[in-house]
Amino acid sequence: MANLIDGKAVAAKIREEVSAEVAELREQGIIPKLAVILVGDDPASVVYAKSKQSASNKVGIEFELFTLPASTKEQEVIALIEKLNHDTSVHGIMIELPLPKHIGKEKVMSAVHPKKDVDGVHPINRGYILSGEDGLFPATPQSCIEIMLRSGIEIAGKHAVIVGRGETVGKPLVFLILKHNATVTVCHSRTPDLGYFTRQADILIAAVGKAKMVTGDMVKPGAVVIDAGINEIEGGICGDVDFAAAKEVAGAITPVPGGVGSLTTVLIFKNVLKGIRLQQAD
Ligand code: NDP
Repeated sequence: MANLIDGKAVAAKIREEVSAEVAELREQGIIPKLAVILVGDDPASVVYAKSKQSASNKVGIEFELFTLPASTKEQEVIALIEKLNHDTSVHGIMIELPLPKHIGKEKVMSAVHPKKDVDGVHPINRGYILSGEDGLFPATPQSCIEIMLRSGIEIAGKHAVIVGRGETVGKPLVFLILKHNATVTVCHSRTPDLGYFTRQADILIAAVGKAKMVTGDMVKPGAVVIDAGINEIEGGICGDVDFAAAKEVAGAITPVPGGVGSLTTVLIFKNVLKGIRLQQAD
């Protein structure tokens, strides 16, 4: 039976560190601030924005939510971003997705100053993740790494198999985990015989978006299984891994909920603090 990796406990520890760093900055007269832009009234986005608001209050980070009507023109959203880019009291900017169809996601994301891009989606930050330079990187792939490091799991020298090459999780994770000296295999929808690859994984990471698609027989006995998937099912959410079956085979496993997703918000806050350091270096 696998060891259960407790994402909530890991998140609580990081939250303590973030709170301490925020307190230090406040003593120096710097009040960290995150600005979130919400265009339209997508119910899930409203919930995410509000939950970030209450979480940021708890760690002492100022939070301002800019709610714009769904009819807002792309140029108006960009004008607001540019205003926030120049506002020295704002250290991080996030755009809640999805955006209304008439607004170009890439164009809007690219308008955020790279050092305030706490979602790690600006082309410059995407480039830094490839080149290995320091920048702001997306929270979920960072969660996959942090949850292992803070659970005492060795990454260097291990064979990591990532299922999914999406822009949000899989693709950035390839470069983050390479930096930790894993040997990496990336699988996707065109990979024939997925199980052939996943069974070779010392570390198996699922980032697909398909409920319970990684079955117990796809896991190597003793492997570390990190499930980044979030899938809505009747009565709640589940991951991309069939948890009940995989936990009988794996050596360690993250649950959903209570695993990788528990770290996302606090790692966005860590990005706000990292953004401050990068902005100070200007
Ligand atoms: P994308 O939809 O961008 O990418 C999904 C990937 O899965 C693609 O690379 C796709 O392959 C691959 N895929 C689809 N079907 C199969 C299959 N049958 N076998 C192997 N690979 C397959 O997803 P994201 O990167 O945005 O998100 C991945 C997961 O992470 C989702 O469940 C999402 O909900 C979750 N997530 C979790 C967060 C958190 O806070 N924990 C935050 C963000 C996302 P191809 O490229 O060939 O199409």
